[in-house]
Amino acid sequence: NTFADIDLGEALNLNIRRCKYVRPTPVQRHAIPILLGERDLMACAQTGSGKTAAFCFPIISGIMRDQHVQRPRGLRTVFPLAVILSPTRELACQIHDEAKKFSYQTGVKVVVAYGGTPINQQLRELERGVDILVATPGRLNDLLERARVSMQMIKFLALDEADRMLDMGFEPQIRKIVEQMDMPPRGVRQTMLFSATFPREIQRLAADFLSNYIFLAV
Ligand code: AMP
Repeated sequence: NTFADIDLGEALNLNIRRCKYVRPTPVQRHAIPILLGERDLMACAQTGSGKTAAFCFPIISGIMRDQHVQRPRGLRTVFPLAVILSPTRELACQIHDEAKKFSYQTGVKVVVAYGGTPINQQLRELERGVDILVATPGRLNDLLERARVSMQMIKFLALDEADRMLDMGFEPQIRKIVEQMDMPPRGVRQTMLFSATFPREIQRLAADFLSNYIFLAV
């Protein structure tokens, strides 16, 4: 059981080989086929389990397949196909680094946006185009309010360390973001929720955001 046995698309499989990832970790071994099968996923996984690649690989692979889709061209608004939400700037940057490394020569564009820093540089980066937006909830809401980013074309939503995001009080902001994704014309969205713990609040989030999901604990 190696990454060579999983068809993620030629360019991504090549990057995985280049980065010397040979064997999937347990969370990757289980999550990747579920996500490639287009199912929603609730996964309990700790830091260090390889969860980042578990959600990034299927997202990159799916976007490589869908790159032909027509997107609206707003004057200043960009239309990402995937959003990955993270509780902190540090984690957002780690996810961005990983997603960027594996997007090399796939044509998939990854941009990161987090708060606590001037927005202008991030706006300029977004203007050059974005497929996967890695963001903290507060900064993404800011971008939505400025109409610089639209959730209208979102096909993939990943919430990483969801329990930490709720502990930090991000639930209202996360709900506002997902509401925008649910506005008509709502396309098909695949949602993946990653959390170290599975308390009642996370169960409620899973019930509200996921449809017919598979539960995975590793
Ligand atoms: P994460 O839990 O996503 O933060 O990943 C923990 C570390 O493991 C990161 O440094 C990854 O680059 C590395 N990693 C993840 N998956 C694999 C794999 N299948 N083979 C080797 N290293 C990996």
